[in-house]
Amino acid sequence: MKITFPHFNVVNRIMLYFILFSTSLLFSQDIDTLVNTSSIPLNVTKNDSLIIIINRDTLKGIKVTHSLSSDLLFENWNDTKFNPYKDQYKSYPFYLKFTDSSYASPIQGKKVITSRYGWRKGRPHLGIDIDLVTGDQVMSMFDGVVRFVRYSSGHGKTIVIRHPNGLETAYAHLSKYKVKVNDTVQKGQIIGIGGTTGNARGSHLHLITSYKGDYINPEYLFDFGKENKLKKQNFWITKRWTKAHFHSSTKQSKFTYYNSYKEALSVQKKQSKRKVHVVKRGDTLSEISRKYKISLIKLCKTNAISIHSILKIGKQLIIY
Ligand SMILES: [Zn+2]
Repeated sequence: MKITFPHFNVVNRIMLYFILFSTSLLFSQDIDTLVNTSSIPLNVTKNDSLIIIINRDTLKGIKVTHSLSSDLLFENWNDTKFNPYKDQYKSYPFYLKFTDSSYASPIQGKKVITSRYGWRKGRPHLGIDIDLVTGDQVMSMFDGVVRFVRYSSGHGKTIVIRHPNGLETAYAHLSKYKVKVNDTVQKGQIIGIGGTTGNARGSHLHLITSYKGDYINPEYLFDFGKENKLKKQNFWITKRWTKAHFHSSTKQSKFTYYNSYKEALSVQKKQSKRKVHVVKRGDTLSEISRKYKISLIKLCKTNAISIHSILKIGKQLIIY
């Protein structure tokens, strides 16, 4: 069977969906021809329906199972950029919905969080660190498609998985990859092996959750206890959730959930902006604390730094 795209230019914003319901004929002989542009091995049963999603940038057919169909799955698809949504206009609050009420643990055994999402030593820490031993398996938290498999000096070996609701989970400092770009993965599937690659002091998993390029505090979405439960299935996410300087890497943020856009918007309007001081040559912590009339201890606590920290020029300190 040959697929042609006569209206492709007209539909230049949206991905094309071809919903092909299974018939015994289809699955007995034509399926391999249909998905011959796909790099993913075919793994469907006779009762599955199949959706072929055509990426409009590359026209490369990527096959996913019916349960993974969604408008968000291949939006801004890019396998070379960690964040393909950079510089895009975003409006807040936004809505994030999950069909699952639980996630698959990204590691085996107890999840010990050694550093949280938030401000850390004058810089944003945009994920959480979960303790592991090099060689431990790392699993995908949900069904999804592998968008990015790459090394960078900061994150080391990193895998990003896009899930059907638009959420991305990223797994950094890995020692080995077990998947490649465009692979479909199942919830709980082993995707890599943990390690210390990139800028990691000891072996751990740096786990990032993001939606359309906005980093979200993973602890707002997930309970990292034994049960692997989501905090909720429907989230209204305000700007505060996505900005590291509203959080501290050393203590858990307070959770507030909103039931509607209206409620989230009204709270967001009241949330004050943070005051930030950019370190200049000659600045000292005690001078900064005097300048803004806050205690030295509070300044250090807010910024998760020690009183004896050396201030680097250009670093940002949160004042309140
Ligand atoms: Zn980290």
